[in-house]
Amino acid sequence: MPDTPKMLVVGSVAYDSVDTPTGKNHDQLGGSATFFSVASSYFTDVAVVAVVGEDFDLGDREMLSDRGIDTSGLVQVDGKTFRWTGSYREDLNSAVTLDTQLNVFADFAPELGDAHTDLPFLFLANIDPNLQSSVLSQMTTRPKMVACDTMNLWIDIARPALVSLIENVDVLLINEAECLQLTGCNSVALAAAGLLENGLRAVVIKRGEYGAVVFHNNFTFAVPAYPLVTVVDPTGAGDSFAGGFLGYLSSIDDTGDDAIRRASVVGSVMASFAVESYGLERLRALSASDINARFDAFVQLTRFHPLGGGQGLPIRAQFNN
Ligand code: AMP
Repeated sequence: MPDTPKMLVVGSVAYDSVDTPTGKNHDQLGGSATFFSVASSYFTDVAVVAVVGEDFDLGDREMLSDRGIDTSGLVQVDGKTFRWTGSYREDLNSAVTLDTQLNVFADFAPELGDAHTDLPFLFLANIDPNLQSSVLSQMTTRPKMVACDTMNLWIDIARPALVSLIENVDVLLINEAECLQLTGCNSVALAAAGLLENGLRAVVIKRGEYGAVVFHNNFTFAVPAYPLVTVVDPTGAGDSFAGGFLGYLSSIDDTGDDAIRRASVVGSVMASFAVESYGLERLRALSASDINARFDAFVQLTRFHPLGGGQGLPIRAQFNN
């Protein structure tokens, strides 16, 4: 019996077909809620709200529940599970969507069970913004932190619903290109400043192999991506980032500035594992020492000594004014 969940996620549970520079893989388990819940399950008790079709493999549900993920909100209905087909042949940092079949998501109206309406952390993973808003509006207690993600499809076809959703969340996690598309700005710093002015507490811009930048009300913080020699399949990197980020915050029950900086490193750690194999293969097979070793590698990657004793850089005297 899983523990009482501390965090809820709504998003897609999918079978993905991907084409990457290392090869192709057909109908692998994926979806935004799946990557998020698997990544966050290393840190916290997470419950999933999503829908799957009659073709959903029982073994896939068991894989989630064996990790302590609460799948009581993962409903199964007649029809086919969501399918997404994407290619990374052109650019490993951004997927080209070849096909999206919403299938059972087309008629999905999520209904939260009583155990899920007052959880302190809520992640509205990438899915139709109307579904994201429906879940948020069913929370009887406003969560301590509500975060959301989205993608170009929803910016294209559901912009008003997305804009009104963003007005009601604390943290937006979004790809660089999608942030520019959403705001019409030509720089992420300008885009983030506008979004923060409109009420967000933080905007996390995901930049693929270049890492992520957190624009927060109180600070700006950059985290690199782990410099992997081979990326097998970038699918799920963004959701795994979010799973590490919010899973960590939920486990320590802290949303302060230092916690958010560290959480963004944990996000980058989990994303780095996700891309090392197709689908969930690597992400679901980690040990605590794998995760801690990579977190330590990030500490080394970003560590440098500030100049001590009030010194400045050794700038030539002629510029001393
Ligand atoms: P990312 O973490 O950004 O790489 O997201 C990858 C996941 O997003 C894949 O596993 C897909 O199943 C899922 N996905 C792709 N398109 C959509 C969509 N329109 N709505 C919801 N999920 C999607």
